[in-house]
Amino acid sequence: MPFRLFSVLLLLLCPWGPLFAQLPADTTVIERFRDGKTGAVSLTFDDGIITQFTVARPILDSLDLRATFYVITGKIRGARLGRFIGRNREDIVREAIDVPTDSTNLFERASLIAFTGTSEAVDYHSRIGAAYEAGRRREAYRLTDEAYRKLLNGKLRDTDAVVFHDNPVDTTTWADLRAYQAAGHEIASHTVTHPRLAVLDSANLRYELEQSRADIARHLGPAATFSAEGPYGTEDERVMRYAHAVYPALRNRMPAPYLAELNRGSRAAPGAQEREYVQWQRGPVDGTSLRQMKNWVDTTLAHDNVWLVEVFHGVDDYGWAARPGAELRTYFTYLKEQEDRLWIAPFATVTKYIRARETATLTTERKADTLTVTLATPLDTVMYDEPLTLTTYLPAEWTGARLGDARLPGGTDERGRYVRYALRPGASGDLIRD
Ligand SMILES: [Zn+2]
Repeated sequence: MPFRLFSVLLLLLCPWGPLFAQLPADTTVIERFRDGKTGAVSLTFDDGIITQFTVARPILDSLDLRATFYVITGKIRGARLGRFIGRNREDIVREAIDVPTDSTNLFERASLIAFTGTSEAVDYHSRIGAAYEAGRRREAYRLTDEAYRKLLNGKLRDTDAVVFHDNPVDTTTWADLRAYQAAGHEIASHTVTHPRLAVLDSANLRYELEQSRADIARHLGPAATFSAEGPYGTEDERVMRYAHAVYPALRNRMPAPYLAELNRGSRAAPGAQEREYVQWQRGPVDGTSLRQMKNWVDTTLAHDNVWLVEVFHGVDDYGWAARPGAELRTYFTYLKEQEDRLWIAPFATVTKYIRARETATLTTERKADTLTVTLATPLDTVMYDEPLTLTTYLPAEWTGARLGDARLPGGTDERGRYVRYALRPGASGDLIRD
């Protein structure tokens, strides 16, 4: 209040005051979520499972909701396939006879085993990665030795199965994905082959991240390269270092002082978090009831800082933890019914909004009957193009304001009369007394 008083004095006393005055910093505030809503929800689908596009997406479209689809690019025709990058395969396999697996050769062997052409080998790769990430290094070494012994003895069964994750009938094309993107959905990377990134050596780790990004950029444009998800929800430190150098946002982890991250395995209650935002990840698994899923939404609405990020996999007959399409329709309809208080938007959209809000510098200046609001940002305004919702409290004698030709919506609260409008990071707007 003394600050506001100071501004008023400045207006009255300084000869240039009536012409130009900077108003207190809190004259304009950025709403925590778009349109001043209570919470946010991002619906994300992993693995590019065909029924996500043929069953879930049409339901979302019919409700005018937009989601994020993390696709495995190596499965899409016209993209670069997964491949092993490194030394001669035969040398690596032969070495494994004499030299037991340890920390010096695990990553190379675990990288190669996924490309030995059988579903059993891919299964070994996945189990080796799971053991390693759980801190069971010795089990990872033992599984690797076992896999290479089978490989040498010709005992790794060639099943002719599609060596990809839970996706037997994928027929999605880049043209399809472009159409979904044009309808407002986010299509983003889930790597080239869905590996356990934590047990890849650096060359193969880079390829999975960078080749997937390059294919997406070529077919869907740079906007689709903002966010990504490393398979199996990995939070491995080394993987995160590499991945954060390639993608501005990861659903896996996004360390920031203003964001508490509760991953899918977390049992912490979102309401117990003190930070400005809580990214609360939930995903239905086998046995999750519709009631529980609705509870996630209700919990989000019971607080004012929760960003519920939902992770879906299978739909109808395909994919891991598959949910029936009919149940998804009921659930998405329930979400839609709360849309007056819930901001439902793709992962990248919400990330951009939050980051832009947390790093912005706002100033409000008055010159006679005009308030000029400037939203300065250190971010790249081409990438951070999501408009922020601003609320500006008007001078006491004003009854309303226009921005351009539009009379702004608003209201009155304990602080006074305000107007609400959208402004892009880096922009400024003139609110004219109305
Ligand atoms: Zn996945």
